[in-house]
Amino acid sequence: MDFLRPTTWEEALAAKADQPESVPIQGGTDVMVEINFDVRRPPALLDLNQVAELREWSMTGGLCRVGAGVPYAVVVDELGGPLPGLAQASRTVGSPQIRNRGTVGGNLGAASPAGDSHPPLLAAGAAVEVESRERGVRMIPAAEFYRGVKRSALEPDELIRAVHVPPATGPQYFSKVGTRNAMVIAVCSFAIALHPGERRVGTGLGSAAPTPRRALEAEELLAAELDWEAPLTPALARRFGELCARAAAPIDDVRGTAAYRVHAIGVLARRTLAWAWNDHLEKRAA
Ligand SMILES: Cc1cc2nc3c(=O)[nH]c(=O)nc-3n(C[C@H](O)[C@H](O)[C@H](O)COP(=O)(O)OP(=O)(O)OC[C@H]3O[C@@H](n4cnc5c(N)ncnc54)[C@H](O)[C@@H]3O)c2cc1C
Repeated sequence: MDFLRPTTWEEALAAKADQPESVPIQGGTDVMVEINFDVRRPPALLDLNQVAELREWSMTGGLCRVGAGVPYAVVVDELGGPLPGLAQASRTVGSPQIRNRGTVGGNLGAASPAGDSHPPLLAAGAAVEVESRERGVRMIPAAEFYRGVKRSALEPDELIRAVHVPPATGPQYFSKVGTRNAMVIAVCSFAIALHPGERRVGTGLGSAAPTPRRALEAEELLAAELDWEAPLTPALARRFGELCARAAAPIDDVRGTAAYRVHAIGVLARRTLAWAWNDHLEKRAA
């Protein structure tokens, strides 16, 4: 197995263009597990750890640009203010060791329906910056990035450079059901982001369909019926939960049944909406 070690982004793009079958490796918390268990044996590994810029984040053009190599620990420590949903989700990933190595870019690269960063990226309206040597940069909205179970819109000669996330303008929450409290892959998960300026609520479902996805009907319901000055009515919260549950298309597997996942998504949706709404009203009253 070849081991490619570019030190600049241009070298990394060139290596991927010349050897599209090479497998990028950042934290390695997915890739090394697959290699150790012989799930795959790529002809080459493309180690991105020497490309320092991938580990940086910045505020650029009103968006928070998070480099593909920024580990969860940094998201938790430094991005809780602008990206509270992503920071909450990052806090639930694996263990401290996994959060030190594992990255949002790697989560996107793996494109698992159970990846914890996807629901908050969907709810916030993020876009993934990908690039190839031949065709340059593409910005892919998160909602178009996930294409199937562990499949994404990334082409074989492309690499993920960063994810661009609008900073929060209202409360955001992420909630995850697991079989225990830590070191657990989601049975299902849900993220919500209030966008008060646009009178809009964003959603993201995890581990509840072949891909992470938004609950569009539920978002439309709130856009039409939510009174942004008033308490949330139980009937609207219930209807929102039902429509989020209806957006789920899960399977039975070792972690949970489809029926349980549908039920749990409804509960998580209702609950996170109530938390976010309380924060919203408290902020208005202050
Ligand atoms: C013990 C354990 C617990 C875990 N718990 C969780 C959990 O709670 N929640 C969760 O979501 N995940 C969990 N994971 C999975 C994993 O940690 C995450 O998916 C993590 O985000 C992967 O990041 P990484 O940097 O380690 O990726 P890597 O393993 O380096 O790469 C993952 C995938 O992304 C591709 N890739 C990496 N960087 C790029 C790039 N720049 N461009 C294109 N492709 C790229 C790789 O080729 C590979 O396909 C766990 C893993 C382990 C081993």
